[in-house]
Amino acid sequence: MDEMALLVDLHKRQQRQGPGGAAQTQQAMALAGLNGARPLQIADIGSGTGASTLQLARSLDAKITAVDFLPDFIDVLKGDAEKEGLSEKIETLVASMDALPFEDASYDVLWSEGAIYNMGFEKGLQAWRPFLKPGGLLAVSEITWLSATRPAELQDHWQSEYPEIATASAKLALLEKSGYVPLGYFVLPESCWLANYYGPLQDSFAPFLARHKDDKGAAAIVAAERAEITLYEKYKSYYSYGFYIARKQD
Ligand code: SAH
Repeated sequence: MDEMALLVDLHKRQQRQGPGGAAQTQQAMALAGLNGARPLQIADIGSGTGASTLQLARSLDAKITAVDFLPDFIDVLKGDAEKEGLSEKIETLVASMDALPFEDASYDVLWSEGAIYNMGFEKGLQAWRPFLKPGGLLAVSEITWLSATRPAELQDHWQSEYPEIATASAKLALLEKSGYVPLGYFVLPESCWLANYYGPLQDSFAPFLARHKDDKGAAAIVAAERAEITLYEKYKSYYSYGFYIARKQD
């Protein structure tokens, strides 16, 4: 199996493919002023298997377009939506976030948890803005420095992984520069990383390795995931995901 197929096999069995939580999705909805009062058009970009898509569908009167470029993740989402009786609220789309086939001014809300980094925060903000209706809302989570300084080992790691990592004040300034009015920001707590994401992922390593016995690629993937978890445990006071909520500036 190639590396991508192995990664999909590991992650598609998880409830989430990145740090997050139902309570935090709910908190972001509250900061955006979404209370289910009117029918909303929402796109959930980089939905993965749909933890946030399903949460939005449970809470709001909305039509949600869940977009991901991995068909396997979208298939899991579709199955789960059906099981919960939420299919009528959710439409799925296999597409890349940097080439979304959306019409201008067609969405009330753009949602994206732990995914915008795939095209870059600033590029994503700019590319997605036209899809929002006037006064439309954006809710995105993005890896964020929690302090002005940090150890060199950590700085070097993120410099090579994702040099756009920055403090919240820098991310908020980028929102303003890109034509959005910041409405709120909060930091994902440790439970979003450990209890909701890394914990279940760690539990899945043994069965994953058993499914791919003697596959060096599979062993390498588990080693890389373990290294990422170790880094987080060592340096979690310096970085997390920030959840940013903003309104399209007229
Ligand atoms: N929002 C989900 C998944 C986050 S992981 C959650 O919080 O659990 C990031 C997701 O972005 C993955 O599902 C991955 O398949 C998707 N992704 C990565 N690059 C993409 C791209 N270019 N276009 C669309 N989706 C992409």
